Amino acid sequence: MAGCVTGKRMYPSKEVAEDALIDAWTRYDYRQGNGPVAVYQCEDCGQFHLTSTGEMNQRLRKSLEDGTIKLQKEANRWSDKFNRR
Ligand SMILES: [Zn+2]
Repeated sequence: MAGCVTGKRMYPSKEVAEDALIDAWTRYDYRQGNGPVAVYQCEDCGQFHLTSTGEMNQRLRKSLEDGTIKLQKEANRWSDKFNRR
């Protein structure tokens, strides 16, 4: 499939994009105001991209509030240690 003119990574559905959004938050230490916060459907390619502007995605907000992301981040830290090549 051809890339998008935005140069952004493409996700085939909103759900997949949200998974990627939340996954990104478990892998990087984003601070308020930097990092992706939402997903949107692109007018050019019709697929979904992450964006760092706009209102925070509901699923992301919930995962941050209930501690899911913090837990997953810890888990990733450990699996990185064991899986490093
Ligand atoms: Zn696009």
